[in-house]
Amino acid sequence: MRLGVVRESVAGERRVALVPETLARLPEGVDVVVERGAGEQAAFADRAYEEAGAELGDPWPADVIVKVAAPTAEEAARLHDGQVVIGFLQPLTDAEGIERLTQAGVVGLALESIPRISRAQAMDALSSQATVGGYKAALIAADRLPRFLPMLITAAGTIPPAKVLVLGAGVAGLQAIATTRRLGAVVSAFDVRAAAAEQVESLGATFLDLGVRGEETEGGYARELTPEQQAAQQAELQLRIPQFDAVITTAAVPGRPAPKLVTAEAVRGMRPGSVIVDLAAETGGNCELTEPGRETEHNGVTIVGLTNLPSTLPTHASQLLSRNVAALLGLIVSDGALHLDWDDEVVAGACVTRREVTA
Ligand code: NAD
Repeated sequence: MRLGVVRESVAGERRVALVPETLARLPEGVDVVVERGAGEQAAFADRAYEEAGAELGDPWPADVIVKVAAPTAEEAARLHDGQVVIGFLQPLTDAEGIERLTQAGVVGLALESIPRISRAQAMDALSSQATVGGYKAALIAADRLPRFLPMLITAAGTIPPAKVLVLGAGVAGLQAIATTRRLGAVVSAFDVRAAAAEQVESLGATFLDLGVRGEETEGGYARELTPEQQAAQQAELQLRIPQFDAVITTAAVPGRPAPKLVTAEAVRGMRPGSVIVDLAAETGGNCELTEPGRETEHNGVTIVGLTNLPSTLPTHASQLLSRNVAALLGLIVSDGALHLDWDDEVVAGACVTRREVTA
């Protein structure tokens, strides 16, 4: 079986789906062909892939293609019937891309659709990349703030610690809490899921009670709030937000635009020098004033709407992603051949396009 590792073509995507170290973890009988320069932007040289046993060449004819971003139209034109494609295929948000894969007749396994059950934890690429994003959001907040995060006692006097608010305490939010705490900030957090309170507190942060409780799906995700709940949350946050130096927002509902938590009015209430890092920028942002992909300033408040933060830490983001991909390959390859077991809920759940079988 041949496995192709593609060089990403989307601007700003520096990650690679498989790193040299992971080649040794692949199932027996898999020959890997890597596109030249595939790992370059993540600091993995072509030579490292060759030393790990891969061949450099054209990955597109391979039986299985692994990549990070969903194939572009040009890339999809190189796919062939019956091929397996693994990557962040955006099944809930990119209908056109999914249609292209369907037309190409490929089996699309979307990393974001892998069920989040215990058995599939090693394949959970949403979690591994959210960990990177949450960490980076914390560093950006620290960097953009015109003040220290930790308390400092100096001969010139005492500096109080910065106050940070994290909205959305899922995987990314918890990492942002842990990282800003390590840097010495005093951290508060909020999430609509009841289970989040204990996790927030176990990291040494305070759970902010906004009096809003959302519902959870069977998969443990938040459901979208009703318009009334959303208005109540915005009003309550508007009162609390002026106390904070930095707000890191990570709230998301799968397949839906990001919930608006921080209104323009709330931003007007913040002190000059405050910072908002909006990790939900890609799906529209948790702040009304966020401009996806940009960093803006409103009355002295910096709003960071940069997208694809995992790609800004490409070495470790790729390394973790690569282990997720290898774990998934372990499930679909045996004895050097593909075995797609549609009775397996992980394989069936991940599959977002599949060749129509005609009798
Ligand atoms: P996500 O990225 O979809 O959302 C981020 C957070 O935003 C979630 O915690 C969500 O509750 C929160 N949110 C949504 N609307 C909000 C609002 N209006 N206000 C405030 N917060 C809001 O979620 P995620 O980080 O990918 O994970 C979510 C859940 O999945 C968690 O329960 C997590 O523990 C669970 N999970 C399970 C596994 C597993 O069992 N293998 C792995 C990873 C995550």
